[in-house]
Amino acid sequence: MAGLASVLDRPGPPLWLLAELTYRCPLHCVFCYNPVDFARHEQELSTADWLRVLREGRELGAVQCGFSGGEPLLRDDLEELVAEARRLGYYTNLLTSGVGLTAARAAALKAAGLDHVQLSFQDSTKEINDFLSHTRTYDLKQRVAKMIRDQGWPMVMNVVIHRLNIEHVDRIIAMAAELGAEYLELANTQYYSWAEVNRAHLLPTHDQLKRAEAVTDAWRERLAGKMKLFFVAPDYHEGQPKRCVNGWGSTFLNIAPDGTALPCHTAGMLPGLSFPNVREASLREIWFDSPGFNRFRGTGWMKDPCRSCEHRERDLGGCRCQAYMLSKDVDAADPVCSKSPHHHLVQEAVADAERRAAAGEPPAQPIVFRDRASSLKLTTCR
Ligand code: SF4
Ligand code: SF4
Repeated sequence: MAGLASVLDRPGPPLWLLAELTYRCPLHCVFCYNPVDFARHEQELSTADWLRVLREGRELGAVQCGFSGGEPLLRDDLEELVAEARRLGYYTNLLTSGVGLTAARAAALKAAGLDHVQLSFQDSTKEINDFLSHTRTYDLKQRVAKMIRDQGWPMVMNVVIHRLNIEHVDRIIAMAAELGAEYLELANTQYYSWAEVNRAHLLPTHDQLKRAEAVTDAWRERLAGKMKLFFVAPDYHEGQPKRCVNGWGSTFLNIAPDGTALPCHTAGMLPGLSFPNVREASLREIWFDSPGFNRFRGTGWMKDPCRSCEHRERDLGGCRCQAYMLSKDVDAADPVCSKSPHHHLVQEAVADAERRAAAGEPPAQPIVFRDRASSLKLTTCR
């Protein structure tokens, strides 16, 4: 076991570079994974900075480059960045809401060498799709799906699943099949960022999850060979934590719009840690030498119950952000774990969702849409 631990402690190169080009977004999703304080980080990297980041990432060994946001199509230099990433030899993908994609831009991105596009939908119904994003974007997304097919990109769709759309999983899969999707990710909500703010509205019941999983399994058989379906397990209901981004500082390197380098999207929330900025340090220095990236590598940082747990190499103690959000202790076992002394917090949240579902009782607090005003207000409150 000691041999395995030492391999896990020694960082290899980051394989996946995620360029979060901007936090600007025309949508206002209630489960958005961008940090709640995104409005405080408005100074975006320049094109020249991003081109340097792409080069340094490839020199370090990264093989996949994702362009996301916010909405990455809001950056006018997206085509230039994609072309450079492709020239450097990355496999490139664009993670988009579809807003801003025209036939002309799709053709330009294809010419730049973009390998694939992941299009997000909020629901199979116009009513819920447009409610959750607080925009009228459902029809536009249907048109964008056609543009993606017309360019010959594999159709990859992503739908975040939660209490407000989980009963539509059957129809969501049917819609993806009608649109010609080759992959559909049904991503059960992880309760970070805006999803944490809106958790009482979004957390489904155990029965809802079981039904959604059964529906997905039935479709999986029916669509075998035509469409791949991923049902990303919801950790609040599992009792078993997952490795966060495959292990802190092991695979994934996230660059936020202002140039802050992070081991995961939300690590910036953790107190007592500082993360370097690509304006001030090279990616090599950041990845191998920065205290932030080394802080939770491997298993040496753990305390009990993780330190003495037989599963410590399997899940590496779970998610640090979830541990902090629920227990206020960055070194604690992820509270979704049934061995965590804070697991009751997760159980109470699930029990509350069950109780309110049985009583037909809505959450006491209003739902909060992700926008600049809410971001500034929540940041001040917190
Ligand atoms: S989750 Fe919604 S609001 Fe957040 S970046 Fe994606 S499309 Fe925009
Ligand atoms: S105690 Fe820690 S290492 Fe063990 S299963 Fe739970 S989170 Fe994972």
